[in-house]
Amino acid sequence: MEQSMKLFYEKRGQLLVKNLRSRHFDAYYCDTKEAALEKALELIPADATVGWGGAISAVQIGLMDAVKSGYKVYDRDTCTTLEDRVKMMKKCLTADVFLTGANAISLDGQMVNIDGNGNRVAAIVYGPDSVIVVAGMNKVMDTLEDAIRRARTIAAPMNKQRFPDNETPCHVTGTCADCKSADCICNQILITRHCRPAGRIRFIIVGEELGL
Ligand code: SF4
Repeated sequence: MEQSMKLFYEKRGQLLVKNLRSRHFDAYYCDTKEAALEKALELIPADATVGWGGAISAVQIGLMDAVKSGYKVYDRDTCTTLEDRVKMMKKCLTADVFLTGANAISLDGQMVNIDGNGNRVAAIVYGPDSVIVVAGMNKVMDTLEDAIRRARTIAAPMNKQRFPDNETPCHVTGTCADCKSADCICNQILITRHCRPAGRIRFIIVGEELGL
């Protein structure tokens, strides 16, 4: 990465961390994936149960491989039937630690997430004792309005490309048409603007481009 980009991300990332902490989130800036992995593992107690949802950035820093080998995990990809998969997603709501990502974060410290099934936003709101959000600096937008726009017009249409059998306007054109399709993945839009209990939601902001 260019030195100018690295410095830009670091200065902007540190400002974001300060603003997240002002909202009673726990927050850290890590300039590389490797540093982010180390920090994330520091935050997960050895005996914790771990679940996740919408956590592509956590996969990209190597966190998922690490927790699968070192913790009791609730992994829906090990399920062979839809019924078991749904049961596992519900178990994630009671995990000690829930790993996830952000569709966008405003520089003043508010997170925006869109969800199709609702399991991810449900866990962010309530259930797991601790939520760890791994997010690259590409998710950080100047304002809340910009963050919502990113979530709706970039993250969601990009995410929809992962589902080849679904037909929504964004799947066909790459552009959101504010659809009411049965396959719509924009069913819940969550703005997390403040943290209670303090420190329950922890952000690891990474000075690289991660996730969708
Ligand atoms: S077209 Fe529908 S599914 Fe696609 S991003 Fe827009 S609201 Fe979401």
